Amino acid sequence: MQRYFVLPEQISDDELVIRGEDVHHLKNVLRAKPGQNLIVCAGQGLDYQAEVMEIAAKEVRCRIIGRSVSRGEPRTKVIIAQSLPKGDKLEWIIQKGTELGAVSFIPFISKRSVVKIDARKADRKRERWQKIAKEAAEQAHRGQIPTVSRPLAWEELLEQTEKAEASFIAYEKGGIPLKAAISSVSANNIMVIIGPEGGFEEREIAAAKEKGAIPVSLGARILRTETAPLVALSCIMFARDDLGGENG
Ligand code: SAH
Repeated sequence: MQRYFVLPEQISDDELVIRGEDVHHLKNVLRAKPGQNLIVCAGQGLDYQAEVMEIAAKEVRCRIIGRSVSRGEPRTKVIIAQSLPKGDKLEWIIQKGTELGAVSFIPFISKRSVVKIDARKADRKRERWQKIAKEAAEQAHRGQIPTVSRPLAWEELLEQTEKAEASFIAYEKGGIPLKAAISSVSANNIMVIIGPEGGFEEREIAAAKEKGAIPVSLGARILRTETAPLVALSCIMFARDDLGGENG
């Protein structure tokens, strides 16, 4: 059943209203008619079973016929901090990371990031990245849309690391095995920091460690920058029973 995300203020006791680009999708792609059933989420942990009542030019009014807890949200909240990779790899990471349960994405620039984007381009890029997260969240039956931040400078990423409940920096030249690192933290929020195609410099690892990041190994093989975040995310989800475990 088609799933849409709305803002909390679009939901009242027994009605909800869909606006924006989703109205176009409802009318012209789904060709929805009054009586059509939908699933609508406001990203607050509830899925609403809704029935289309009225299709107007700029909004679709629905009545709420049921509510259930969003099953698509993992208990463990993993944030993927990704050094900007080349080409459209970040779009792929966002799409797959959303399917796998990541709650947010923080692109950042590190020493060996090849991609440099200016502020204007960054805003356009972020809009596209956020749209990819929304579409992937609808397809994956997520209960909320992961957020994608603007690209951070390295110093800003270090500030985020310091604030994080727990953070792992993936380092193919050292670090403790991921399995041991996951067992060593009880935090419910874990930030995973992944380097660019050229990897991290030693002093970047040292700086992240100083802010509390744990260098972790993702095994003996060198993973591509777009593979590493998904491996780390999947392992954390699996270890915390959020991927094929008792939490679903
Ligand atoms: N510079 C590396 C490639 C970097 S891969 C080379 O020697 O070719 C891009 C990023 O993925 C790395 O910065 C690291 O964050 C992560 N990564 C890849 N393989 C890893 C591994 N086996 N253990 C830990 N991190 C890894």
